[in-house]
Amino acid sequence: MTRIDLHCHSTASDGTFTPAELVRAGAAAGLDVMAITDHDTTGGWQAAAQARPDGLRLVRGAELSCRWLGAEQWPIALHMLAYLFDPDEPRLAADLARMRVDREQRAEKIVAKLAADGVPITWGEVHGYAAGGSVGRPHIAQALIRAGLVRTTNEAFASRWLGARYFVPKSDLDVFEAVRAVRAAGGVTVFAHPRATVRGRVVPDELIIQLADAGLFGLEADHEDHSPAERAHVRELAEDLGLVVTGSSDFHGTHKTVQLGDYLTDPEAYEKIVSAATGVPVLG
Ligand code: AMP
Ligand code: FE
Ligand code: FE
Ligand code: ZN
Repeated sequence: MTRIDLHCHSTASDGTFTPAELVRAGAAAGLDVMAITDHDTTGGWQAAAQARPDGLRLVRGAELSCRWLGAEQWPIALHMLAYLFDPDEPRLAADLARMRVDREQRAEKIVAKLAADGVPITWGEVHGYAAGGSVGRPHIAQALIRAGLVRTTNEAFASRWLGARYFVPKSDLDVFEAVRAVRAAGGVTVFAHPRATVRGRVVPDELIIQLADAGLFGLEADHEDHSPAERAHVRELAEDLGLVVTGSSDFHGTHKTVQLGDYLTDPEAYEKIVSAATGVPVLG
């Protein structure tokens, strides 16, 4: 059986494995194909490609932080996986750079709010945990764990901490701009965990229909944050709209409990993604 995991994070964003450790762990987990999809960055691509063990195909991608201004003009956050695009295409590269700057400014604000309430963490500490990669709330969670205020990343996302009380929104990319920019850079987009109600508000099917018209290529159905009913709904929607269906672990190292290869993508869907994109997986 071909084992394909198309959504994995490294220390280039909020994963805990370096890109080199990630590809080695992918091979050790028996994967044939894995994608590196850090939040708003291609910063891990080179190190992952260099360390890629023989026999593992590496799909270079990213997970774009997007927003959709719903009918009520109250933005809903959503994630677009982007695969096999040109990282030097100026418009997309500028979008990604802008989002990384915004992530830093937003994390600094969250740290300032916490510090104002006497929580003994600093921006310097959090910035250090991000180690030059895209900063995210898991890095702030790491500081809260170090300070002894929570025991796990998950606990740090509770409403009394990063989930609500100390939540600051990111500015994010308009989701239609994301789909267009990735296409213009030769890549394809797959909507990550589109029905994950456990994460908060999800977008209506009408938006997914509009995104399909705008060039969206696929929907991620098999994901730990989807219930069986949510997975079935996503599959049905994909079939109706002619979109590919993927399944992936969304591995984050020790920031989450899910393991590489816990959810997989069918080879036919993978081949369609590769055929539709101008970029190529790293192999041979
Ligand atoms: P951010 O991108 O800074 O808004 O932080 C959200 C990231 O934290 C997501 O990529 C999640 O993968 C990660 N994360 C880890 N644990 C949780 C959790 N319990 N709830 C939400 N996000 C989490
Ligand atoms: Fe993450
Ligand atoms: Fe995501
Ligand atoms: Zn992810």
